[in-house]
Amino acid sequence: MNTSTSGQIIVKGISGSPGICIGKAYLVDKEGVNLIKRYPINDAQISNEIDRFKQAVSKAKNDYARIIESIDKAIEDNIDILETHMVLFEDKMLYERTIDTISIDKINAEWALRKVAGKAKSMFQQIDDPYLKARVNDIDQVMDKIMANLIGAQDKKISDINKRVILVAHDISPADASQIQLERIKGFVTDRGGKDSHTSIIAKSLKIPSVLGLGKATVNVKNDDILIVDGSAGILIINPDEDTLFDYVERLTRFEIYRAGLERESHLPAITKDGVVLNLMANIELVEEIVAAKDYGATDIGLFRTEFLYLDLRRFPTEDELFCKYKELVELMLPHSVTIRTLDINGDKVNSYLSVVEEANPSLGLRAVRFCLENEAVFITQLKAILRAAAIGNIKLLIPMISCVEEILQVKQIIQKAVQDLEHEKKVFNKDIPLGIMIEVPSASIMADYLAEHVDFFSIGTNDLIQYSLAIDRRNPQVAHLYQALNPAVLRMIKMTCDAAKKKGIDIVMCGEMAGDPINIPVLIGMGLTDLSMNSASIPVVKNMIRNIDSRKAKSHMKKIMVLNTAKEITDYIINEYKDILPFVGEDEIL
Ligand code: PEP
Ligand code: MG
Repeated sequence: MNTSTSGQIIVKGISGSPGICIGKAYLVDKEGVNLIKRYPINDAQISNEIDRFKQAVSKAKNDYARIIESIDKAIEDNIDILETHMVLFEDKMLYERTIDTISIDKINAEWALRKVAGKAKSMFQQIDDPYLKARVNDIDQVMDKIMANLIGAQDKKISDINKRVILVAHDISPADASQIQLERIKGFVTDRGGKDSHTSIIAKSLKIPSVLGLGKATVNVKNDDILIVDGSAGILIINPDEDTLFDYVERLTRFEIYRAGLERESHLPAITKDGVVLNLMANIELVEEIVAAKDYGATDIGLFRTEFLYLDLRRFPTEDELFCKYKELVELMLPHSVTIRTLDINGDKVNSYLSVVEEANPSLGLRAVRFCLENEAVFITQLKAILRAAAIGNIKLLIPMISCVEEILQVKQIIQKAVQDLEHEKKVFNKDIPLGIMIEVPSASIMADYLAEHVDFFSIGTNDLIQYSLAIDRRNPQVAHLYQALNPAVLRMIKMTCDAAKKKGIDIVMCGEMAGDPINIPVLIGMGLTDLSMNSASIPVVKNMIRNIDSRKAKSHMKKIMVLNTAKEITDYIINEYKDILPFVGEDEIL
Protein backbone atom coordinates (compact mmCIF):
# COMPACT_ATOMS: atom_id res chain seq x y z
CA MET A 1 0.00 0.00 0.00
CA ASN A 2 1.24 3.44 -0.96
CA THR A 3 -0.11 6.60 0.75
CA SER A 4 0.76 10.10 -0.49
CA THR A 5 0.65 13.45 1.36
CA SER A 6 -2.58 14.35 -0.48
CA GLY A 7 -4.28 11.35 1.15
CA GLN A 8 -4.29 9.33 -2.04
CA ILE A 9 -3.89 5.61 -1.33
CA ILE A 10 -2.76 3.12 -3.96
CA VAL A 11 -3.37 -0.56 -3.24
CA LYS A 12 -2.07 -3.38 -5.42
CA GLY A 13 -4.26 -6.42 -5.84
CA ILE A 14 -4.96 -9.02 -8.50
CA SER A 15 -6.55 -8.17 -11.82
CA GLY A 16 -10.05 -9.70 -11.77
CA SER A 17 -11.14 -8.32 -15.14
CA PRO A 18 -9.57 -5.64 -17.34
CA GLY A 19 -10.58 -2.03 -17.97
CA ILE A 20 -10.75 1.19 -15.96
CA CYS A 21 -13.59 2.84 -14.08
CA ILE A 22 -13.78 5.92 -11.90
CA GLY A 23 -16.59 6.53 -9.44
CA LYS A 24 -17.88 6.69 -5.88
CA ALA A 25 -17.43 3.85 -3.43
CA TYR A 26 -20.40 1.88 -2.17
CA LEU A 27 -19.64 -0.48 0.71
CA VAL A 28 -21.68 -3.64 0.69
CA ASP A 29 -20.28 -5.54 3.62
CA LYS A 30 -22.38 -7.13 6.25
CA GLU A 31 -21.51 -5.29 9.40
CA GLY A 32 -20.43 -7.40 12.29
CA VAL A 33 -19.77 -10.63 10.45
CA ASN A 34 -16.07 -10.27 11.20
CA LEU A 35 -16.52 -9.23 14.84
CA ILE A 36 -18.09 -12.29 16.41
CA LYS A 37 -17.25 -13.41 19.98
CA ARG A 38 -16.99 -16.74 21.72
CA TYR A 39 -19.27 -17.43 24.70
CA PRO A 40 -19.95 -20.63 26.62
CA ILE A 41 -23.41 -22.18 26.84
CA ASN A 42 -24.81 -24.65 29.38
CA ASP A 43 -26.43 -28.04 28.72
CA ALA A 44 -29.93 -26.59 28.70
CA GLN A 45 -29.00 -24.09 26.00
CA ILE A 46 -27.48 -26.61 23.58
CA SER A 47 -30.62 -27.56 21.70
CA ASN A 48 -31.67 -23.92 21.41
CA GLU A 49 -28.24 -23.01 19.99
CA ILE A 50 -28.41 -25.86 17.48
CA ASP A 51 -31.87 -24.69 16.39
CA ARG A 52 -30.56 -21.17 15.92
CA PHE A 53 -27.82 -22.56 13.69
CA LYS A 54 -30.27 -24.69 11.71
CA GLN A 55 -32.57 -21.71 11.15
CA ALA A 56 -29.66 -19.57 9.95
CA VAL A 57 -28.68 -22.28 7.42
CA SER A 58 -32.25 -22.74 6.30
CA LYS A 59 -32.71 -18.96 5.77
CA ALA A 60 -29.47 -18.85 3.77
CA LYS A 61 -30.69 -21.74 1.59
CA ASN A 62 -34.05 -20.08 0.99
CA ASP A 63 -32.31 -16.84 -0.02
CA TYR A 64 -30.13 -18.76 -2.45
CA ALA A 65 -33.08 -20.65 -3.91
CA ARG A 66 -34.84 -17.33 -4.58
CA ILE A 67 -31.74 -15.91 -6.24
CA ILE A 68 -31.27 -19.01 -8.41
CA GLU A 69 -34.86 -18.71 -9.61
CA SER A 70 -34.59 -15.04 -10.47
CA ILE A 71 -31.13 -15.18 -12.00
CA ASP A 72 -30.44 -13.13 -15.10
CA LYS A 73 -29.94 -15.14 -18.31
CA ALA A 74 -26.70 -13.32 -19.06
CA ILE A 75 -25.03 -14.74 -15.99
CA GLU A 76 -26.72 -18.09 -15.98
CA ASP A 77 -23.33 -19.79 -15.57
CA ASN A 78 -23.33 -18.54 -11.99
CA ILE A 79 -26.14 -20.94 -11.16
CA ASP A 80 -23.60 -23.76 -11.05
CA ILE A 81 -21.55 -21.87 -8.51
CA LEU A 82 -24.62 -21.09 -6.41
CA GLU A 83 -25.60 -24.73 -6.52
CA THR A 84 -22.15 -25.67 -5.25
CA HIS A 85 -22.81 -23.36 -2.30
CA MET A 86 -26.24 -24.92 -1.75
CA VAL A 87 -24.52 -28.29 -1.37
CA LEU A 88 -21.93 -26.80 1.00
CA PHE A 89 -24.68 -25.47 3.30
CA GLU A 90 -25.54 -29.04 4.22
CA ASP A 91 -22.15 -30.60 3.72
CA LYS A 92 -21.21 -32.91 6.61
CA MET A 93 -17.91 -31.13 6.98
CA LEU A 94 -19.62 -27.84 7.83
CA TYR A 95 -23.17 -28.56 8.91
CA GLU A 96 -22.90 -31.66 11.06
CA ARG A 97 -19.53 -30.76 12.53
CA THR A 98 -20.81 -27.34 13.60
CA ILE A 99 -23.76 -29.01 15.37
CA ASP A 100 -21.36 -31.49 17.04
CA THR A 101 -19.02 -28.67 18.06
CA ILE A 102 -21.87 -26.68 19.66
CA SER A 103 -22.81 -29.64 21.85
CA ILE A 104 -19.34 -31.04 22.57
CA ASP A 105 -17.48 -27.74 23.17
CA LYS A 106 -20.61 -26.07 24.63
CA ILE A 107 -20.00 -22.85 22.71
CA ASN A 108 -22.19 -20.46 20.77
CA ALA A 109 -23.15 -21.31 17.19
CA GLU A 110 -21.16 -18.43 15.67
CA TRP A 111 -17.92 -19.56 17.29
CA ALA A 112 -18.57 -23.22 16.48
CA LEU A 113 -19.17 -22.37 12.82
CA ARG A 114 -16.02 -20.27 12.63
CA LYS A 115 -13.96 -23.05 14.23
CA VAL A 116 -15.30 -25.77 11.92
CA ALA A 117 -14.99 -23.61 8.78
CA GLY A 118 -11.42 -22.72 9.77
CA LYS A 119 -10.50 -26.42 9.97
CA ALA A 120 -12.19 -27.21 6.66
CA LYS A 121 -10.34 -24.34 5.02
CA SER A 122 -6.94 -25.38 6.28
CA MET A 123 -7.62 -28.91 5.01
CA PHE A 124 -8.34 -27.54 1.51
CA GLN A 125 -5.37 -25.20 1.68
CA GLN A 126 -3.02 -28.14 2.16
CA ILE A 127 -4.22 -29.84 -1.01
CA ASP A 128 -1.88 -29.32 -3.93
CA ASP A 129 -4.62 -29.07 -6.52
CA PRO A 130 -5.21 -25.33 -7.18
CA TYR A 131 -8.82 -25.99 -8.14
CA LEU A 132 -9.58 -27.50 -4.74
CA LYS A 133 -7.51 -24.83 -3.04
CA ALA A 134 -9.74 -22.22 -4.64
CA ARG A 135 -12.73 -23.84 -2.88
CA VAL A 136 -11.55 -22.17 0.35
CA ASN A 137 -13.24 -19.11 -1.05
CA ASP A 138 -16.55 -20.96 -1.36
CA ILE A 139 -16.36 -22.04 2.30
CA ASP A 140 -15.74 -18.43 3.33
CA GLN A 141 -18.72 -17.18 1.35
CA VAL A 142 -21.04 -19.86 2.70
CA MET A 143 -19.82 -19.20 6.26
CA ASP A 144 -20.40 -15.44 5.88
CA LYS A 145 -23.93 -16.01 4.67
CA ILE A 146 -24.83 -18.25 7.62
CA MET A 147 -22.99 -15.96 10.04
CA ALA A 148 -24.89 -12.91 8.80
CA ASN A 149 -28.16 -14.70 9.58
CA LEU A 150 -26.91 -15.83 13.00
CA ILE A 151 -26.03 -12.33 14.12
CA GLY A 152 -29.04 -10.79 12.40
CA ALA A 153 -26.89 -8.54 10.20
CA GLN A 154 -28.78 -6.51 7.65
CA ASP A 155 -27.75 -7.38 4.11
CA LYS A 156 -27.38 -4.36 1.90
CA LYS A 157 -29.05 -5.60 -1.25
CA ILE A 158 -26.92 -5.03 -4.33
CA SER A 159 -30.08 -5.18 -6.44
CA ASP A 160 -31.48 -2.16 -4.53
CA ILE A 161 -28.58 0.14 -5.43
CA ASN A 162 -29.99 2.98 -7.52
CA LYS A 163 -26.91 5.05 -8.39
CA ARG A 164 -23.80 4.48 -10.52
CA VAL A 165 -21.19 3.24 -8.04
CA ILE A 166 -18.18 1.01 -7.53
CA LEU A 167 -18.85 -1.85 -5.12
CA VAL A 168 -16.37 -2.34 -2.30
CA ALA A 169 -16.68 -5.57 -0.39
CA HIS A 170 -14.71 -7.90 1.79
CA ASP A 171 -15.88 -10.51 -0.69
CA ILE A 172 -18.47 -10.73 -3.43
CA SER A 173 -20.13 -14.11 -3.44
CA PRO A 174 -21.70 -15.57 -6.57
CA ALA A 175 -25.09 -14.85 -4.99
CA ASP A 176 -24.14 -11.16 -4.57
CA ALA A 177 -22.69 -10.98 -8.06
CA SER A 178 -25.87 -12.38 -9.58
CA GLN A 179 -27.68 -9.26 -8.36
CA ILE A 180 -25.29 -6.85 -10.05
CA GLN A 181 -27.10 -4.65 -12.54
CA LEU A 182 -24.60 -3.63 -15.15
CA GLU A 183 -26.22 -0.23 -15.77
CA ARG A 184 -25.63 0.69 -12.10
CA ILE A 185 -22.39 -0.96 -11.10
CA LYS A 186 -19.27 0.42 -12.77
CA GLY A 187 -16.86 -2.08 -11.27
CA PHE A 188 -15.94 -3.77 -8.02
CA VAL A 189 -13.06 -4.39 -5.64
CA THR A 190 -12.73 -7.05 -2.96
CA ASP A 191 -10.36 -8.01 -0.16
CA ARG A 192 -10.62 -11.68 -0.98
CA GLY A 193 -10.41 -13.58 -4.23
CA GLY A 194 -7.54 -15.02 -6.21
CA LYS A 195 -6.90 -15.64 -9.85
CA ASP A 196 -8.74 -18.95 -9.81
CA SER A 197 -11.55 -17.98 -7.47
CA HIS A 198 -15.15 -18.04 -8.55
CA THR A 199 -15.29 -14.27 -8.04
CA SER A 200 -12.71 -13.78 -10.77
CA ILE A 201 -14.67 -16.07 -13.11
CA ILE A 202 -17.77 -13.96 -12.50
CA ALA A 203 -15.90 -10.65 -12.92
CA LYS A 204 -14.82 -11.74 -16.37
CA SER A 205 -18.28 -12.92 -17.35
CA LEU A 206 -19.74 -9.54 -16.28
CA LYS A 207 -17.06 -7.68 -18.26
CA ILE A 208 -16.74 -4.84 -15.73
CA PRO A 209 -13.35 -3.76 -14.33
CA SER A 210 -12.45 -5.37 -11.03
CA VAL A 211 -9.52 -5.77 -8.68
CA LEU A 212 -9.49 -8.66 -6.21
CA GLY A 213 -7.30 -9.88 -3.38
CA LEU A 214 -6.73 -6.39 -1.97
CA GLY A 215 -6.22 -7.57 1.60
CA LYS A 216 -7.78 -4.66 3.46
CA ALA A 217 -9.51 -2.50 0.89
CA THR A 218 -12.74 -2.21 2.85
CA VAL A 219 -10.93 -0.92 5.92
CA ASN A 220 -9.43 1.98 3.98
CA VAL A 221 -12.49 2.90 1.95
CA LYS A 222 -15.52 4.86 3.16
CA ASN A 223 -18.82 5.28 1.37
CA ASP A 224 -18.64 7.97 -1.33
CA ASP A 225 -14.83 8.01 -1.47
CA ILE A 226 -13.64 8.56 -5.03
CA LEU A 227 -12.08 5.40 -6.44
CA ILE A 228 -10.17 4.50 -9.54
CA VAL A 229 -10.29 0.80 -10.40
CA ASP A 230 -7.57 -0.15 -12.84
CA GLY A 231 -8.60 -3.73 -13.55
CA SER A 232 -5.89 -4.20 -16.18
CA ALA A 233 -3.06 -3.35 -13.79
CA GLY A 234 -4.81 -4.81 -10.71
CA ILE A 235 -4.66 -1.47 -8.86
CA LEU A 236 -7.15 0.40 -6.68
CA ILE A 237 -6.59 4.11 -6.07
CA ILE A 238 -8.54 5.58 -3.14
CA ASN A 239 -9.21 9.34 -3.16
CA PRO A 240 -6.82 10.06 -6.02
CA ASP A 241 -5.00 13.36 -6.07
CA GLU A 242 -5.83 15.82 -8.83
CA ASP A 243 -3.00 14.78 -11.14
CA THR A 244 -3.78 11.08 -10.88
CA LEU A 245 -7.46 11.68 -11.42
CA PHE A 246 -6.78 13.89 -14.41
CA ASP A 247 -4.40 11.31 -15.82
CA TYR A 248 -6.90 8.47 -15.44
CA VAL A 249 -9.82 10.49 -16.82
CA GLU A 250 -7.69 11.17 -19.88
CA ARG A 251 -6.63 7.56 -20.21
CA LEU A 252 -10.18 6.37 -19.85
CA THR A 253 -11.44 8.83 -22.47
CA ARG A 254 -8.66 7.98 -24.88
CA PHE A 255 -9.21 4.30 -24.31
CA GLU A 256 -12.94 4.54 -24.95
CA ILE A 257 -12.47 6.58 -28.14
CA TYR A 258 -9.72 4.25 -29.31
CA ARG A 259 -11.72 1.12 -28.57
CA ALA A 260 -14.87 2.49 -30.26
CA GLY A 261 -12.82 3.41 -33.34
CA LEU A 262 -11.31 -0.06 -33.52
CA GLU A 263 -14.66 -1.72 -33.17
CA ARG A 264 -16.06 0.41 -36.00
CA GLU A 265 -13.23 -0.87 -38.22
CA SER A 266 -13.49 -4.49 -37.15
CA HIS A 267 -15.07 -5.55 -40.44
CA LEU A 268 -12.21 -4.32 -42.60
CA PRO A 269 -9.93 -7.09 -43.89
CA ALA A 270 -6.88 -8.11 -41.83
CA ILE A 271 -4.35 -7.21 -44.48
CA THR A 272 -0.80 -5.93 -44.02
CA LYS A 273 0.42 -2.75 -45.70
CA ASP A 274 2.16 -4.86 -48.35
CA GLY A 275 -0.93 -6.94 -49.07
CA VAL A 276 -0.51 -10.15 -47.00
CA VAL A 277 -3.96 -11.34 -45.98
CA LEU A 278 -4.37 -12.81 -42.48
CA ASN A 279 -7.27 -14.83 -41.23
CA LEU A 280 -8.48 -13.76 -37.77
CA MET A 281 -10.63 -16.32 -36.04
CA ALA A 282 -12.35 -16.62 -32.68
CA ASN A 283 -11.80 -18.95 -29.74
CA ILE A 284 -15.15 -19.81 -28.19
CA GLU A 285 -16.55 -22.07 -25.51
CA LEU A 286 -20.28 -21.62 -26.02
CA VAL A 287 -22.44 -21.51 -29.13
CA GLU A 288 -23.93 -18.24 -27.79
CA GLU A 289 -20.54 -16.54 -28.31
CA ILE A 290 -20.87 -16.70 -32.10
CA VAL A 291 -22.76 -13.40 -32.29
CA ALA A 292 -19.99 -11.52 -30.46
CA ALA A 293 -17.33 -13.31 -32.55
CA LYS A 294 -18.99 -12.13 -35.78
CA ASP A 295 -19.49 -8.61 -34.43
CA TYR A 296 -15.81 -8.34 -33.61
CA GLY A 297 -14.97 -9.41 -37.17
CA ALA A 298 -13.96 -13.08 -36.79
CA THR A 299 -14.00 -15.00 -40.07
CA ASP A 300 -14.09 -18.52 -38.68
CA ILE A 301 -14.10 -20.29 -35.32
CA GLY A 302 -10.46 -21.27 -34.92
CA LEU A 303 -10.98 -23.05 -31.60
CA PHE A 304 -14.13 -24.44 -30.08
CA ARG A 305 -13.29 -25.69 -26.60
CA THR A 306 -15.69 -28.59 -26.07
CA GLU A 307 -15.12 -29.36 -22.39
CA PHE A 308 -17.66 -26.91 -21.02
CA LEU A 309 -20.65 -28.98 -22.02
CA TYR A 310 -19.18 -31.90 -20.07
CA LEU A 311 -18.53 -29.67 -17.06
CA ASP A 312 -22.00 -28.10 -17.17
CA LEU A 313 -23.85 -31.38 -17.41
CA ARG A 314 -21.75 -33.00 -14.66
CA ARG A 315 -21.96 -36.28 -16.60
CA PHE A 316 -20.79 -37.49 -19.97
CA PRO A 317 -23.13 -36.17 -22.68
CA THR A 318 -24.68 -38.58 -25.16
CA GLU A 319 -23.71 -38.69 -28.83
CA ASP A 320 -27.02 -37.06 -29.77
CA GLU A 321 -26.63 -34.25 -27.24
CA LEU A 322 -23.18 -33.49 -28.60
CA PHE A 323 -24.32 -33.82 -32.20
CA CYS A 324 -27.15 -31.28 -31.63
CA LYS A 325 -24.72 -28.73 -30.16
CA TYR A 326 -22.13 -29.17 -32.92
CA LYS A 327 -24.84 -29.08 -35.60
CA GLU A 328 -26.20 -25.78 -34.24
CA LEU A 329 -22.69 -24.35 -34.13
CA VAL A 330 -21.64 -25.31 -37.66
CA GLU A 331 -24.96 -24.27 -39.16
CA LEU A 332 -24.64 -20.81 -37.62
CA MET A 333 -21.13 -20.46 -39.06
CA LEU A 334 -21.76 -21.78 -42.57
CA PRO A 335 -19.99 -21.46 -45.00
CA HIS A 336 -17.14 -20.65 -42.62
CA SER A 337 -15.21 -23.28 -40.75
CA VAL A 338 -15.35 -24.39 -37.13
CA THR A 339 -12.34 -26.12 -35.59
CA ILE A 340 -13.71 -28.45 -32.96
CA ARG A 341 -11.17 -29.49 -30.36
CA THR A 342 -11.83 -32.80 -28.67
CA LEU A 343 -12.19 -32.99 -24.92
CA ASP A 344 -9.40 -31.22 -22.99
CA ILE A 345 -10.54 -32.29 -19.56
CA ASN A 346 -8.57 -32.43 -16.29
CA GLY A 347 -5.62 -30.10 -15.89
CA ASP A 348 -7.34 -26.85 -14.90
CA LYS A 349 -10.79 -27.91 -16.08
CA VAL A 350 -11.65 -30.57 -13.55
CA ASN A 351 -14.88 -32.11 -12.53
CA SER A 352 -15.36 -34.59 -9.77
CA TYR A 353 -17.17 -37.15 -11.91
CA LEU A 354 -14.20 -37.22 -14.30
CA SER A 355 -11.19 -37.32 -12.05
CA VAL A 356 -11.24 -40.82 -10.71
CA VAL A 357 -7.76 -40.69 -9.26
CA GLU A 358 -6.42 -37.67 -7.40
CA GLU A 359 -3.38 -36.32 -9.21
CA ALA A 360 -0.48 -34.48 -7.59
CA ASN A 361 0.19 -32.56 -10.81
CA PRO A 362 -3.03 -32.42 -12.82
CA SER A 363 -1.45 -30.32 -15.59
CA LEU A 364 1.05 -33.11 -16.14
CA GLY A 365 -1.46 -35.86 -15.60
CA LEU A 366 -4.25 -37.70 -17.37
CA ARG A 367 -5.32 -34.63 -19.30
CA ALA A 368 -6.86 -33.99 -22.74
CA VAL A 369 -5.98 -36.68 -25.32
CA ARG A 370 -4.40 -38.82 -22.60
CA PHE A 371 -7.75 -38.97 -20.83
CA CYS A 372 -9.54 -39.73 -24.12
CA LEU A 373 -7.18 -42.57 -25.02
CA GLU A 374 -7.78 -44.12 -21.59
CA ASN A 375 -11.54 -43.61 -21.88
CA GLU A 376 -12.11 -44.83 -25.41
CA ALA A 377 -15.91 -44.99 -25.20
CA VAL A 378 -16.10 -41.32 -24.16
CA PHE A 379 -13.75 -40.39 -27.01
CA ILE A 380 -15.62 -42.43 -29.63
CA THR A 381 -18.93 -40.86 -28.59
CA GLN A 382 -17.52 -37.39 -29.16
CA LEU A 383 -15.80 -38.29 -32.43
CA LYS A 384 -19.02 -39.79 -33.80
CA ALA A 385 -20.93 -36.60 -32.96
CA ILE A 386 -18.26 -34.47 -34.67
CA LEU A 387 -18.19 -36.65 -37.81
CA ARG A 388 -22.00 -36.49 -38.04
CA ALA A 389 -21.97 -32.69 -37.73
CA ALA A 390 -19.27 -32.61 -40.43
CA ALA A 391 -21.89 -33.83 -42.92
CA ILE A 392 -23.75 -30.56 -42.28
CA GLY A 393 -21.06 -27.91 -41.85
CA ASN A 394 -17.44 -27.07 -42.38
CA ILE A 395 -15.52 -28.80 -39.57
CA LYS A 396 -11.86 -29.28 -38.77
CA LEU A 397 -10.99 -31.80 -36.07
CA LEU A 398 -8.35 -30.80 -33.52
CA ILE A 399 -6.71 -33.04 -30.91
CA PRO A 400 -5.27 -31.37 -27.79
CA MET A 401 -2.02 -32.07 -25.94
CA ILE A 402 -0.41 -34.51 -28.35
CA SER A 403 3.09 -35.16 -27.06
CA CYS A 404 4.36 -37.94 -29.32
CA VAL A 405 3.80 -39.70 -32.65
CA GLU A 406 2.28 -42.82 -30.99
CA GLU A 407 -0.59 -40.77 -29.62
CA ILE A 408 -1.67 -39.46 -32.99
CA LEU A 409 -1.46 -42.96 -34.47
CA GLN A 410 -3.69 -44.23 -31.65
CA VAL A 411 -6.12 -41.35 -32.22
CA LYS A 412 -6.35 -42.27 -35.90
CA GLN A 413 -7.20 -45.86 -35.02
CA ILE A 414 -9.96 -44.68 -32.71
CA ILE A 415 -11.33 -42.34 -35.41
CA GLN A 416 -11.45 -45.41 -37.65
CA LYS A 417 -13.50 -47.25 -35.02
CA ALA A 418 -15.90 -44.29 -34.80
CA VAL A 419 -16.28 -44.40 -38.59
CA GLN A 420 -17.00 -48.16 -38.50
CA ASP A 421 -19.64 -47.64 -35.80
CA LEU A 422 -21.33 -44.91 -37.83
CA GLU A 423 -21.28 -47.07 -40.97
CA HIS A 424 -22.74 -49.95 -39.03
CA GLU A 425 -25.45 -47.71 -37.59
CA LYS A 426 -26.14 -46.31 -41.08
CA LYS A 427 -25.84 -42.73 -39.87
CA VAL A 428 -25.02 -39.81 -42.16
CA PHE A 429 -21.49 -38.51 -41.56
CA ASN A 430 -18.40 -37.11 -43.24
CA LYS A 431 -14.96 -38.52 -42.49
CA ASP A 432 -13.06 -36.40 -45.01
CA ILE A 433 -12.28 -33.53 -42.72
CA PRO A 434 -8.91 -31.97 -41.87
CA LEU A 435 -7.27 -33.53 -38.82
CA GLY A 436 -5.01 -31.31 -36.73
CA ILE A 437 -3.13 -31.40 -33.45
CA MET A 438 -2.46 -28.75 -30.84
CA ILE A 439 1.24 -28.02 -30.48
CA GLU A 440 1.30 -27.10 -26.82
CA VAL A 441 3.83 -29.49 -25.30
CA PRO A 442 7.56 -28.90 -25.97
CA SER A 443 8.05 -32.50 -27.19
CA ALA A 444 5.46 -31.92 -29.91
CA SER A 445 7.25 -28.81 -31.03
CA ILE A 446 10.58 -30.62 -31.12
CA MET A 447 9.03 -33.52 -33.07
CA ALA A 448 6.90 -31.26 -35.27
CA ASP A 449 8.49 -32.43 -38.54
CA TYR A 450 7.62 -36.05 -37.72
CA LEU A 451 4.17 -35.26 -36.42
CA ALA A 452 3.45 -33.24 -39.57
CA GLU A 453 3.62 -36.47 -41.59
CA HIS A 454 0.44 -37.68 -39.88
CA VAL A 455 -1.84 -34.63 -39.80
CA ASP A 456 -3.30 -31.88 -41.98
CA PHE A 457 -2.62 -28.94 -39.69
CA PHE A 458 -1.00 -27.71 -36.49
CA SER A 459 -2.56 -25.32 -34.02
CA ILE A 460 -0.04 -23.75 -31.65
CA GLY A 461 -1.52 -23.49 -28.15
CA THR A 462 0.75 -20.94 -26.55
CA ASN A 463 -1.14 -20.87 -23.23
CA ASP A 464 0.17 -24.32 -22.48
CA LEU A 465 3.31 -24.19 -24.60
CA ILE A 466 4.58 -21.30 -22.45
CA GLN A 467 3.56 -23.03 -19.21
CA TYR A 468 5.27 -26.31 -20.14
CA SER A 469 8.38 -24.92 -21.81
CA LEU A 470 9.16 -22.40 -19.06
CA ALA A 471 7.80 -24.57 -16.20
CA ILE A 472 5.45 -21.79 -15.09
CA ASP A 473 2.00 -22.76 -13.79
CA ARG A 474 -0.26 -20.51 -15.85
CA ARG A 475 -2.60 -19.95 -12.88
CA ASN A 476 -0.04 -19.21 -10.19
CA PRO A 477 0.13 -15.43 -9.52
CA GLN A 478 3.47 -15.83 -7.71
CA VAL A 479 5.27 -16.76 -10.91
CA ALA A 480 3.07 -14.78 -13.29
CA HIS A 481 5.91 -12.33 -14.02
CA LEU A 482 7.94 -15.22 -15.48
CA TYR A 483 5.18 -16.32 -17.84
CA GLN A 484 6.46 -14.57 -20.98
CA ALA A 485 5.23 -15.13 -24.50
CA LEU A 486 8.28 -13.28 -25.84
CA ASN A 487 10.78 -15.46 -23.99
CA PRO A 488 13.41 -16.51 -26.57
CA ALA A 489 12.88 -20.20 -25.73
CA VAL A 490 9.17 -19.89 -26.52
CA LEU A 491 9.91 -18.08 -29.78
CA ARG A 492 12.31 -20.83 -30.79
CA MET A 493 9.64 -23.47 -30.16
CA ILE A 494 7.14 -21.54 -32.26
CA LYS A 495 9.63 -20.96 -35.05
CA MET A 496 10.58 -24.65 -35.14
CA THR A 497 6.91 -25.56 -35.41
CA CYS A 498 6.27 -23.02 -38.19
CA ASP A 499 9.33 -24.19 -40.13
CA ALA A 500 8.30 -27.85 -39.84
CA ALA A 501 4.77 -27.10 -41.06
CA LYS A 502 6.13 -25.12 -44.00
CA LYS A 503 8.64 -27.82 -44.94
CA LYS A 504 5.97 -30.53 -44.86
CA GLY A 505 3.36 -28.35 -46.55
CA ILE A 506 0.70 -28.46 -43.85
CA ASP A 507 -1.42 -25.59 -42.50
CA ILE A 508 -0.57 -23.88 -39.24
CA VAL A 509 -2.67 -21.74 -36.90
CA MET A 510 -1.93 -20.09 -33.57
CA CYS A 511 -4.82 -20.26 -31.11
CA GLY A 512 -3.24 -19.32 -27.77
CA GLU A 513 -3.72 -15.93 -26.08
CA MET A 514 -0.35 -14.87 -27.51
CA ALA A 515 -2.10 -14.30 -30.84
CA GLY A 516 -4.45 -11.79 -29.18
CA ASP A 517 -1.77 -9.39 -27.91
CA PRO A 518 -0.70 -6.71 -30.43
CA ILE A 519 2.90 -6.64 -29.20
CA ASN A 520 3.42 -10.21 -30.46
CA ILE A 521 1.99 -9.62 -33.92
CA PRO A 522 5.17 -8.41 -35.70
CA VAL A 523 7.04 -11.59 -34.65
CA LEU A 524 4.16 -13.85 -35.64
CA ILE A 525 3.86 -12.20 -39.05
CA GLY A 526 7.65 -12.37 -39.32
CA MET A 527 7.48 -16.13 -38.81
CA GLY A 528 4.96 -16.39 -41.63
CA LEU A 529 1.87 -17.13 -39.51
CA THR A 530 -1.30 -15.99 -41.29
CA ASP A 531 -4.01 -17.80 -39.31
CA LEU A 532 -4.56 -16.50 -35.81
CA SER A 533 -7.36 -17.45 -33.43
CA MET A 534 -8.03 -15.50 -30.23
CA ASN A 535 -10.72 -14.37 -27.80
CA SER A 536 -13.15 -12.33 -29.91
CA ALA A 537 -12.69 -9.07 -28.00
CA SER A 538 -9.01 -8.93 -29.06
CA ILE A 539 -9.75 -9.13 -32.78
CA PRO A 540 -10.26 -5.37 -33.42
CA VAL A 541 -6.98 -4.33 -31.78
CA VAL A 542 -5.00 -7.12 -33.46
CA LYS A 543 -6.57 -6.29 -36.81
CA ASN A 544 -5.58 -2.65 -36.43
CA MET A 545 -2.00 -3.68 -35.68
CA ILE A 546 -1.86 -5.97 -38.73
CA ARG A 547 -3.15 -3.21 -41.01
CA ASN A 548 -0.23 -1.02 -39.94
CA ILE A 549 2.54 -3.60 -40.43
CA ASP A 550 4.69 -4.32 -43.48
CA SER A 551 5.32 -8.06 -43.54
CA ARG A 552 8.71 -7.68 -45.26
CA LYS A 553 9.94 -5.46 -42.45
CA ALA A 554 8.42 -7.85 -39.88
CA LYS A 555 10.45 -10.70 -41.43
CA SER A 556 13.70 -8.80 -41.17
CA HIS A 557 12.87 -7.74 -37.59
CA MET A 558 12.10 -11.33 -36.70
CA LYS A 559 15.59 -12.42 -37.79
CA LYS A 560 17.13 -9.82 -35.48
CA ILE A 561 14.79 -10.79 -32.64
CA MET A 562 15.73 -14.46 -32.91
CA VAL A 563 19.32 -13.72 -31.87
CA LEU A 564 18.37 -11.69 -28.81
CA ASN A 565 18.87 -13.41 -25.43
CA THR A 566 16.13 -12.21 -23.13
CA ALA A 567 12.42 -11.47 -23.15
CA LYS A 568 13.19 -7.91 -22.05
CA GLU A 569 15.54 -7.28 -24.98
CA ILE A 570 12.94 -8.67 -27.36
CA THR A 571 10.12 -6.62 -25.85
CA ASP A 572 12.21 -3.43 -25.94
CA TYR A 573 13.17 -4.11 -29.54
CA ILE A 574 9.54 -4.47 -30.62
CA ILE A 575 8.41 -1.43 -28.64
CA ASN A 576 11.16 0.63 -30.20
CA GLU A 577 10.43 -0.50 -33.77
CA TYR A 578 6.65 -0.36 -33.47
CA LYS A 579 6.04 2.42 -30.92
CA ASP A 580 4.02 4.46 -33.41
CA ILE A 581 1.46 1.76 -33.99
CA LEU A 582 1.41 -0.19 -30.72
CA PRO A 583 -1.65 0.70 -28.67
CA PHE A 584 -0.92 2.50 -25.38
CA VAL A 585 2.72 1.60 -24.99
CA GLY A 586 4.49 1.73 -21.61
CA GLU A 587 2.81 3.47 -18.69
CA ASP A 588 -0.33 4.13 -20.67
CA GLU A 589 -0.88 0.50 -21.49
CA ILE A 590 -4.39 -0.37 -20.43
CA LEU A 591 -5.52 -2.82 -23.03
C1 PEP B 1 -3.60 -23.19 -25.32
O1 PEP B 1 -3.09 -23.98 -24.52
O2 PEP B 1 -2.96 -22.26 -25.84
C2 PEP B 1 -5.01 -23.29 -25.69
C3 PEP B 1 -5.53 -22.54 -26.63
O3 PEP B 1 -5.78 -24.17 -25.02
P1 PEP B 1 -6.36 -23.97 -23.52
O4 PEP B 1 -6.19 -22.53 -23.17
O5 PEP B 1 -7.77 -24.40 -23.61
O6 PEP B 1 -5.51 -24.89 -22.73
MG1 MG C 1 -4.05 -25.82 -24.03
